[in-house]
Amino acid sequence: MSGFGRAECVALRGLEGVGVQIEVHASSGLPVVHIVGLPGPAVQQARHRTWSAIARMGLTAPSGRVVINLTPASLPKAGTHFDLAMAIAVLRASGVVPPDDEATALLGELGLDGRLRPVAGTLPLARAAAEAGMTRLVVPTASADEASLVAGLRVLGAPSLAHAAALLGAELEPEPVEPVLADPVPARAHAALDLADVVGNRDAVDALEVAAAGAHHLMMVGPPGAGKTMLAMRLPGILPPLTQVQALDVASLRSLSGEPAAPTLDLLPPFEHPHHSATAVSLIGGGSGAIRPGAAARATHGVLFLDEAPEFPRTVLDMLRQPLESGTITVHRAAGAASFPARFQLLLAANPCPCGQFGSGDCTCAPQQRRRYFGRLSGPLLDRVDLQVRVDRVVPGVDGERHRRTTADAASRVTEARARAAHRLHGTEWTAMGHVPGPWLRRSLPLDRALLAPLERALETGSLTMRGLDRTVRVAWTMADLDAVASPSLTHIGRALALRKGIPA
Ligand SMILES: [Zn+2]
Repeated sequence: MSGFGRAECVALRGLEGVGVQIEVHASSGLPVVHIVGLPGPAVQQARHRTWSAIARMGLTAPSGRVVINLTPASLPKAGTHFDLAMAIAVLRASGVVPPDDEATALLGELGLDGRLRPVAGTLPLARAAAEAGMTRLVVPTASADEASLVAGLRVLGAPSLAHAAALLGAELEPEPVEPVLADPVPARAHAALDLADVVGNRDAVDALEVAAAGAHHLMMVGPPGAGKTMLAMRLPGILPPLTQVQALDVASLRSLSGEPAAPTLDLLPPFEHPHHSATAVSLIGGGSGAIRPGAAARATHGVLFLDEAPEFPRTVLDMLRQPLESGTITVHRAAGAASFPARFQLLLAANPCPCGQFGSGDCTCAPQQRRRYFGRLSGPLLDRVDLQVRVDRVVPGVDGERHRRTTADAASRVTEARARAAHRLHGTEWTAMGHVPGPWLRRSLPLDRALLAPLERALETGSLTMRGLDRTVRVAWTMADLDAVASPSLTHIGRALALRKGIPA
């Protein structure tokens, strides 16, 4: 007895997908199953899950020699999401399921009992299926909502292999089964936070607003307990909401990390805050099997917050160079490389010195200890940080609670400032002043000599470098945008200069 079956699936490299065809040739001979076409370990093990599931569902698998061929052959296939397509191709080879009459991709992991389990990355896999020309998608019941976020696909949810086979035309009446549930969608801790909760620290609140308006990277320096984390978590709320495409990217990256997407897209920019003890893999991405994005990629279109930034290992900080320069991150593994988008706004927080008390009189650190502490951040990272602000502990009763800015107020000012900047940068590749390189800024938006005078004085005394000058000018432009004026004033230049002195000498 011989038979042939085929089914369609997709593989991911980063967020990009490639259509994968699964062909099954069954012939008489000794019972043996070969999987060819660069199957990873999880795909090799799929044969056990497939045969067990087929038996448990009371279906018939080919009994002799079976060759399962995954094409394109040169593409490594990792993950358990190929299970369903493999099982359906096998059932087609044994004549249980008829050939496809519509371009249908199949995604899902099989349990030994035949139930379908949701897989990480359902959303980007579904996007890839649509891009590969599929019009119908069969997924585990628990993944149907997530896959339905992709336009142009008819999504069918199935609780088990037998139900999927029946949806695809097998003459079966499967017993009802309890679907495997997806993990709950985690709540965003920063979703409901308001800037009005911040007492005092006007300069820091101003700096946060400037950072949001110009997409400038920001560093906050202050003693423990000054509220740096509280401020940081309020940055996403004053950033412009995500566009639909951005939100789909963000949800896709989360989905690849194993977080199912909510039934509606979350338009709040992401906030990622890896701990300084985090591994390079958790920050940059990687893992055995399918390559997962790290915090830097998941912060795309949002904020990457590194609290106690000087405590991060230098090697890990250096890995942020590539995303800061190119907006992408490439993870290399033996099984191949994957690229993820990683265009985030960097927010750093640091104590003023290793003991945290510098400036209060109780500091026990030697000057070279302080220099070494910040030295770890120098170079690639601090070079790109336009704003440095001091955050101090608030003394009760002294810092009034009046004139507090709400998140809604700040967000609307930020939106207007961004619109002014986008108008000025129309026709360039940039949309915010924080993205504009120094040489272009000097050439295309020259400032009056009178405005440059304080900057030139600072250059002469060595308190400002050429890069520092460019950063100050960029920030001054954003301040002008926030004040709804055509170009920076001397006041803006002065305030911008003051906002780059966070690191104590
Ligand atoms: Zn100290």
